[in-house]
Amino acid sequence: MKKVCNAYDPTEAHIIKGVLESYGIKAEVQDDQLHNLVAGIGYTEAVIPTIWIFDDRQYDEAQGILDEYEKKKKDQTRDEVIWVCSSCQEESTEAFTECWNCGASRSP
Ligand SMILES: [Zn+2]
Repeated sequence: MKKVCNAYDPTEAHIIKGVLESYGIKAEVQDDQLHNLVAGIGYTEAVIPTIWIFDDRQYDEAQGILDEYEKKKKDQTRDEVIWVCSSCQEESTEAFTECWNCGASRSP
């Protein structure tokens, strides 16, 4: 067993596990149960879900796949940003016709 990365939340952890397994790398999510147990108290680093692979020899391959996954995720985030508020410079997506941050109308 070898840890390949941390996830932001259990949902993402399971997405990453699915991505790895689609490449034939057997993976497991740990700590997501604990996540629920402490939900009322708040999150600590100890309960951030982690993704582990069973075969240590696939570690480098797994890292490569995760790099690609992160890159794709960033690209998607970038695509969603359609316009920048002229008064506060916050970025908004197409779905917003007014700035989500300060309420200014979308600039032409
Ligand atoms: Zn604004």
